[in-house]
Amino acid sequence: MTEIPLKQHIAPSGEQMTVRDLASCPPPERWHDWVEYDARAWPRKVEKHYEIIPTICFNCEAACGLLAYIDKETGRVKKFEGNPYHPGSRGRNCAKGPATINQVNDPERILYPLKRAGKRGEGKWERTTWDEVLETFAARIRAAIVDGRRDEVMYHVGRPGHDGYMERVLGAWGVDGHNSHTNVCSSSARFGYQVWCGADRPSPDHANARFILLISSHLETGHYFNPQAQRIIEGKMKGAKLAVMDPRLSNTASMADYWLPTWPGSEAAVLLAMARIILVENLYNGEYMRRWVNWQDFMAAEYPGEPQSFDRFIALLIDLYAGFTPAFAAQESGLPQEVIVDIARQIGQAGTAFAAHTWRAAAAGNLGGWQVSRALWFLSVLTGSIGTPGGTAPNSWNKYVPAPFLKPAPAEVWNELLYPPEYPLANYEMSMLLPYFLREGRGKVAAYFTRVYNPVWTNPDGIAWIEMLTNEQQVELHAALTPVWSETAWYADYVLPVGVGSERHDLMSQETHAARWIGFRQPVLRVYKERHGEAVQYTYQANPGEVWEEDEFWIELSWRIDPDGSLGIRKYFESPYQPGQKLTIEEYYRWIFEHSVPGLPEAAAKEDLSPLEYMQKYGAFEIPQEKAPVFVLNERELQPAELEGAQVDERSGKITRGGSAVGVMINGKAYEGFPTPSRKLEFYSATLKEWGWPEYAVPGYTHSHVQRSAIDNEHGEYLLIPTFRLPTLIHTRSGNAKWLYEISNANPVWVHPTDAARIGVETGDLLRVTTEIGYYVNRAWVTDGIHPGIVACSHHLGRWRLDADAGTDRWASAQVALGREQDGTWRMRHLQGIQPFESTDPDSARIFWREGGVHQNLTFPVHPDPISGMHCWHQKVTVEAAHAGDRYGDVFVDTNKAYEVYKQWLAMTRPQVNRADGLRRPLWMIRPYRPAAGAFKSRSQ
Ligand code: SF4
Repeated sequence: MTEIPLKQHIAPSGEQMTVRDLASCPPPERWHDWVEYDARAWPRKVEKHYEIIPTICFNCEAACGLLAYIDKETGRVKKFEGNPYHPGSRGRNCAKGPATINQVNDPERILYPLKRAGKRGEGKWERTTWDEVLETFAARIRAAIVDGRRDEVMYHVGRPGHDGYMERVLGAWGVDGHNSHTNVCSSSARFGYQVWCGADRPSPDHANARFILLISSHLETGHYFNPQAQRIIEGKMKGAKLAVMDPRLSNTASMADYWLPTWPGSEAAVLLAMARIILVENLYNGEYMRRWVNWQDFMAAEYPGEPQSFDRFIALLIDLYAGFTPAFAAQESGLPQEVIVDIARQIGQAGTAFAAHTWRAAAAGNLGGWQVSRALWFLSVLTGSIGTPGGTAPNSWNKYVPAPFLKPAPAEVWNELLYPPEYPLANYEMSMLLPYFLREGRGKVAAYFTRVYNPVWTNPDGIAWIEMLTNEQQVELHAALTPVWSETAWYADYVLPVGVGSERHDLMSQETHAARWIGFRQPVLRVYKERHGEAVQYTYQANPGEVWEEDEFWIELSWRIDPDGSLGIRKYFESPYQPGQKLTIEEYYRWIFEHSVPGLPEAAAKEDLSPLEYMQKYGAFEIPQEKAPVFVLNERELQPAELEGAQVDERSGKITRGGSAVGVMINGKAYEGFPTPSRKLEFYSATLKEWGWPEYAVPGYTHSHVQRSAIDNEHGEYLLIPTFRLPTLIHTRSGNAKWLYEISNANPVWVHPTDAARIGVETGDLLRVTTEIGYYVNRAWVTDGIHPGIVACSHHLGRWRLDADAGTDRWASAQVALGREQDGTWRMRHLQGIQPFESTDPDSARIFWREGGVHQNLTFPVHPDPISGMHCWHQKVTVEAAHAGDRYGDVFVDTNKAYEVYKQWLAMTRPQVNRADGLRRPLWMIRPYRPAAGAFKSRSQ
């Protein structure tokens, strides 16, 4: 823990200030009574006393630390600032962290559980009790479990905000029902990483890098961007060079040494050209590759007649990528050849201090986007910079997920609504296809939870979700667990208010840098009350209204599903300290902190605290590296006990034990290696070959569905980038944060001046953007910051509601009319933009923004990549000046066409249904909820 010196402050007048330490970071020993002057009382010096309690931001996945300042006079949270004792964020937050206070005080928030009083989507609601909710769902879920319909219970998550809690709950129930948003987010990038190293995320050590390559806008909005942005700048200040590949001049690109505005989908070609230069110019790390790449497997499988030597492998590699010349990459991408060569050399020279990251961006936009992360990791492999200081580690090396007590055994059940036979390699659940699968009669959902998830608005073809959610045969019972109204909650049977970041418990760890830490989100008012002697049995008793925390909801629900323990569920929700008693949320985390976090009990003891008290006090803990090392973990030598009964394959060195690969023998030493089938880095993926895609057995370049030659600008065609984030908004949960909407309240279409001239529009003019299934009408923003031939529109705005007063927060949403025509087409029109309104917050009467953006995702059909399963977001569109009668915010969608496009993309898959081994999916590939190995075999086996 970094010691932060207490600064002495003297007023400009020289007078010693009464509030002794107006330091930027209050020291923890004074968190129990922190004194500041009341800004509103200025120029009088009126002291305000606060108690400071740490928690974790819930507004993106980065899990930064926050400090809640609780006013001792009112017992209410006054503000949130950064927690300097959080190892990831180190006291710094983006705008969304402090805006948590808006979410707490939002006058539009839902405070009590609601039940629909009319038809689904009709907008009639009545207040109900949590007891009624719990009984209703418990009965429904219990019936599904007892009847053996364990694939009819589904939990569909947007922002998880925890590590492992729900997987344990679903495992205890024995259902295969974990669904996520990941295949509209990151599953493609994940897939590229997974086939290489068995972990599906990168963790760059930016602070110690000599060269950093980002295929994202990581200084402002990317994955874990705030903690990583800090380290990128640190690296730059120490001399690292930064290159950013992005067709849009993002804030990140503007800070880079090299802005590489590639044509979307061409990134893998550029990266492979760089790989070729590194190989040809002998800049690669031969010793690392010889030891850690599965080149022996490649040679044996693909070149059995050749000398099985490393040197021959390198020669073959150069042949294999001979076509990826700088000239070819330049032609595909639009980058100058000499820039590609220059950067390749700098990467080669950076060696083990080359850090690289891609996440959504190109990987999320393009057919075959997973080849981008795969080609990027190839550069890390060539430079031997995997898990080195200044390099890029698998995320699992920089993340720590402590085990809870009593882990449920995996269930013998497989849900084909999540992992259908067409997508055996899908990195995550095929969640965006659920409406089509239900329409096709592949199953039904008896109990459906959407949790901080808004598919009607977030997913492509949101109309398909409305049609699904309003069909009671397809989705029998639906509860939206959400802190805020959403377009999806409107179509639920129950809307269940759950806490924002300061109103719930969660345990989080993220790969923000080369370290392992855990962060403890806690309901700060509950902690405050308990510290002051008030008994709080459930968090909702301390939260506003009846806002529950989900951890307690799932414990309560599980007890009601299995009240007498006969289903074997209840035992997982009984106290580890008081046998037979219902688990309390404090006991759940107390057990983890006492038993599963190396070094925490010792650190706590030094301060005379229990591990739980330590986490409640600081909100985070960094595991000492001697207890949990973070670099080159593949080189951990296996202990004799781990080798008992093991066998070693002579050719590849793979060590197996009980049929599973456990390590690899290199130069006579047994190492742990990587969690891949070969235990090495898999340049050669036998998995892809064996599962129907032999042409992709090694890293390659897939032509995107929006490649340059497919777009004819002269005939009005453009490539639409609809994926970029704004640094100030959250996908679908910032509608309740007035400060954020004050900053960002429009998503105009970025158009290059040459294209604007061709189209005949200027900034502010209305455009019609036509996709395969419909169109939307938005304003143009003419800028040089976008590659010619490409238009871009942020996905963060365009929230809507159907009712004048209720539905999505009025800070953020336009009131719209949405209706289905006779022919199955749908139209949306703004009835009223964002308007001031009267509420308990006087700021609501001061709203000055009016339009609020346009909802573009409704006009996108699904584009599931046939291998990774990721929705390929980029679109080929026609852009023209608005037609007569078009109005801002108009949306038109033809759902019949949307279904046709789904079928076209489905036809690109290669289902693997009659395999000799009977497997539905490779056993080694990860799943968020992992059923028993037997469930991986299809029923026909
Ligand atoms: S980056 Fe911003 S939104 Fe994300 S966790 Fe950190 S403070 Fe919160």
